[in-house]
Amino acid sequence: MHVVKEGLEEDSLWDSEFIRQHDVAGPRYTSYPTALQFHEEFTHEDYLGAVGRSNESRMPLSLYVHLPFCASLCYYCACNKVITQSDEKKRRYLDALIKEIRMKSRDFDQGRPVYQMHWGGGTPTYFNEAELTELWFEIGRHFHLVDSERGEYSIEIDPRTMTADKLGLLKGLGFNRISLGIQDFDRKVQEAINRVQPFQQIEELMMASRNYQFRSVNFDLIYGLPYQSVGSVRDTINQVIELSPDRISLFNYAHLPQRFKSQGLLPEEALPLAEEKLQILCAASNQLIDAGYVYIGMDHFAKPTDELAVAQAEGNLHRNFQGYTTFKDADLVGLGVSSISLINNVYCQNTKSITEYQGLMEEGDSPITAGVLLSTDDEIRRAVIMSLLCQNWLVPSQIEEQYGIVFEDYFFNEIRGLSDFVEEGLLVRQGGVYNVTSKGRLVIRKICMLFDIYLPQHMKDGTRFSRVL
Ligand code: SF4
Repeated sequence: MHVVKEGLEEDSLWDSEFIRQHDVAGPRYTSYPTALQFHEEFTHEDYLGAVGRSNESRMPLSLYVHLPFCASLCYYCACNKVITQSDEKKRRYLDALIKEIRMKSRDFDQGRPVYQMHWGGGTPTYFNEAELTELWFEIGRHFHLVDSERGEYSIEIDPRTMTADKLGLLKGLGFNRISLGIQDFDRKVQEAINRVQPFQQIEELMMASRNYQFRSVNFDLIYGLPYQSVGSVRDTINQVIELSPDRISLFNYAHLPQRFKSQGLLPEEALPLAEEKLQILCAASNQLIDAGYVYIGMDHFAKPTDELAVAQAEGNLHRNFQGYTTFKDADLVGLGVSSISLINNVYCQNTKSITEYQGLMEEGDSPITAGVLLSTDDEIRRAVIMSLLCQNWLVPSQIEEQYGIVFEDYFFNEIRGLSDFVEEGLLVRQGGVYNVTSKGRLVIRKICMLFDIYLPQHMKDGTRFSRVL
C-alpha cells in the first residue's frame, strides 16, 4: 500500500521548548518486546523450533558478530567490553567464536544467503589483520555471504586502532560500510574522557575511506560530555561537516557512575547541566540539518542520498539492534558474547559473561541463556511501533490487513492516547492515517510507549530508561 504524506508542516527545526515539555524516559525500541522481557526459562528447544520455522520460510540471513575487547578505557563507556593487552585472551575468545560460528551455521539450511553482516564491540579493529582475515573467511566458509555489490557489510572502527593499510584490508575482505567512533574533536573533552584522537588522524582515515570507495561512512558523536558547551560542540560539528560523513549518530551521554564505574573518573563538575545539554542537542541538530543532513529519527542523521534516507522516504526503513537498516525480511543471527538473535518469532541472547561464554563453547554447549517467544499480540504491537519509528506514520488499515483485526476495537484504549497526541501536535490524522509531525519525531518514543503493553509494569518496578536529556 502506498501512503502519501500530505499537509505536514515544513518546520523541521529542533525546538528546545517542545522537547522540554514532551521528553519522557522510555525504551529505545531496538526490539519489541524489549530485552527486559527476555527470560531464562527460554530453552534450547524454543531456539530450535524457531530455527526450523526460519528454515521453512527460506528468508535471507543477517549476522551480528560481537568482538568485546578494547586497548584502553573510555571513561564514559557503558558497553559490554573487556579492556586487555593480552593476545592470549583475544585468541581464546576468537577460538570460542569460531566454534559458535561452526555450531550455529549447522542449524541453518546451507545456501540461505546472508545480505547483511555487522561487526560491533568493544573494538573489532583491536584484532590484528591476520585475526580479522581469519574470522572473515571462517564466516564465509560456513555462511553464504553474497558478494559485496549486493551485501551490506559494516564494521565499527576505533580510529586509534586503524591505519589506511588496515582499512584497505577491510575493504579487500568485503566490508563496504564503516562506522568511526569520533565522540568530540575538542582536545580538552578528549582528554577528560580518556580518548585522544586528533582531527588529522580522522581526516587521513576519511581520505583513505574515499579512496577505497566505502559505500557509507558513519560518525558516532556524543553530547553531554565534560567541558562541552554549545560553542565547543558547534566547532566539532563544523569539523564533522567538513569531513562529510554519509551518516551521523548523535548520542546522549547518560551519567550513571553507580552502574558504570569508569564514569566516576569523569570530572563531574565539568558535565553540562540538563538545560545546556538541551541547547547543545538543538544547536548541533539544527547545524546538521542546515548543512543538508536529514533527521532519520532516534539520534540518526543521514545525507539525503544515503540509502537510509532514501529507504525512509520510500517507506522501506526498518530497525534492529544495530539501529536503522534497509533490510527487513531477514532473520538475524547473533554471534559472540551477549549478542542477540531474532529468528522467526523469537528473540534470544547469548550469555553476557565472557567467562561463561568461552566455557560453554569449549564444552560444545549452546551459549544462549535467555530469550522470548513472541505472541501474536507482541507481533501486532511491534508492527505498530516499528512503523512509527521507521516510517513516521501509522496506517491502521495496513495493520488490519496484515493481522486480521479491527484496529479501533483492538486498540480501543490506545485510540484516546492517539487523539491526545493529535491535539498536542505530535501527530496529524488525515484520511485514516496518523502521520508523525516533525516535532513529534523529536519525542517519538513517547508515541511508541503508548503501544508497549509491558511498560506500565516496568514503570511500577522502577526500571530506569534513557531520555533525550
Ligand atoms: S573503545 Fe568503545 S567499547 Fe571500548 S571502551 Fe571505548 S567506547 Fe567503550
